[in-house]
Amino acid sequence: MARYIVLLGPPGAGKGTQAEILARETRLAHISSGEIFRENLKAQTELGKLAQEYMNRGELVPDDVTISMIEERLSRPDCAGGALLDGFPRTPAQAEALEAMLRKNGSGVQVVPYIAVPAAVLIERLSGRWTCRAQEHVYHEKFNPPAVLGKCDIDGSELYQREDDKPETVESRIRVYMEKTSPLIAYYRERGLLAEIDGTQPIEKVTADLMAAIQK
Ligand code: ADP
Ligand code: AMP
Repeated sequence: MARYIVLLGPPGAGKGTQAEILARETRLAHISSGEIFRENLKAQTELGKLAQEYMNRGELVPDDVTISMIEERLSRPDCAGGALLDGFPRTPAQAEALEAMLRKNGSGVQVVPYIAVPAAVLIERLSGRWTCRAQEHVYHEKFNPPAVLGKCDIDGSELYQREDDKPETVESRIRVYMEKTSPLIAYYRERGLLAEIDGTQPIEKVTADLMAAIQK
């Protein structure tokens, strides 16, 4: 049966970093809604142009647009065995839509690791984050630096700082998370799917806790 794992947590919690590692370990497709929006923005598609104004303000792209984008992505062959969802769902309406789309195939969300990190730590993480142009591999200038400054260890592409990692935008993203996304913690806890992970630990330790949670 297909396995769907939802990585929950505030911006900067380490979802992308961990999803990259878990995707290798589990052979599940890593689906990041933020990355799909950024690809569309780069290609200047209609979806990208629409998403841009919300992303630049640190707000959420409307549910209907986001839900149909993810539904299309999950219908592709590389997701036949399931997926690791990073950044989706971000609202209760998105969570309900995900449940409905998976139910159609007799499937559902298997587990929701919630990577918990306090707000003060998130600001430092996001302001030091460097992302690779080619494939969005993620680094941190202090906590996870690349071997060569400004260059991705994996594919050699240039590292850049995301437009929405500026302090003003980070604050609004954390506020939006608290308001719109944090209710999903209770939503998944009530369904018996939540596994809380201490995201302040070193990357390797967080990975070990995540692997234990998803193998249960
Ligand atoms: P998210 O996808 O949840 O927004 P990222 O995976 O992009 O978060 O991580 C945000 C920043 O924090 C990155 O610069 C990353 O290198 C760094 N980071 C991720 N996990 C840890 C950790 N456990 N300890 C310290 N820094 C981390
Ligand atoms: P991320 O890469 O997860 O940090 O997402 C970057 C930005 O993309 C967010 O600040 C939102 O503007 C937008 N975004 C990503 N995922 C979603 C989602 N599930 N719902 C709405 N907006 C999203």
